[in-house]
Amino acid sequence: MNGFFSIAIDGPSGAGKSSLARKLAEAFRFIYVDTGAIYRTVGLAAYRAGIDRKDEQAVKSLLPKIKIELGYNEAGEQRMYLDGEDVSAEIRRPEISICASDVSSLPAVRAYLLEMQRELARRNNVIMDGRDIGTVVLPGAELKIFLTADSRARAQRRLLELKAKGIEADFEDVLQDIEYRDRQDSSRAAAPLRAAEDALVVDTSEIDFEQSFRLLAELVVTRLAPERDGDI
Ligand code: C5P
Repeated sequence: MNGFFSIAIDGPSGAGKSSLARKLAEAFRFIYVDTGAIYRTVGLAAYRAGIDRKDEQAVKSLLPKIKIELGYNEAGEQRMYLDGEDVSAEIRRPEISICASDVSSLPAVRAYLLEMQRELARRNNVIMDGRDIGTVVLPGAELKIFLTADSRARAQRRLLELKAKGIEADFEDVLQDIEYRDRQDSSRAAAPLRAAEDALVVDTSEIDFEQSFRLLAELVVTRLAPERDGDI
């Protein structure tokens, strides 16, 4: 414990982690850290460099040559910069999701990003979402939530999210992408996707965003109430 609170939200893609974490961060005035966006930025760098994203040596030698930065705009939204360029929109492209999943299997990439993530939690109250936050990045987090939902419900939500951003996609393609990443993220040797032993597992297949938010907000209040005023 360093005087700051950390909330870890892990789970497969499309379970609603980022929208829920963002809203919780706003309600409790924590900083929201989307770690998937950081992996996506490395994925984009590898994609642009035209290297084999599963070749650990190739990706490892790229890392010292690129500069990855995370910032917040005036609305408090996280922005990602690659060599000074704001790539926050580009990293959302579906092919970059696959690149992110590919590079994130490499221990060299995970080690490279670990300190960056921990440093944010050392300096701020954070709600961090990802795959290994509760298990590896912040094992001492005050609250750990493992958010999940069945893959079709997740694909449907991802499709709507992409549409809202003006990206047209096909349901079956999105479902395939989600299932591919589920398999790859869960079966990798380095920091596989799994719930920490002390994580609370929340399945959002049958509940909507508002219900999920109320549920998580209650968990946050219960866990942090003695230390905070807890009004949301
Ligand atoms: O969360 P998002 O879908 O944006 O993450 C993109 C990819 O980055 C995931 O499929 C996963 O492979 C990887 N990732 C990870 N560890 C994290 C966050 C994301 O391996 N903490």
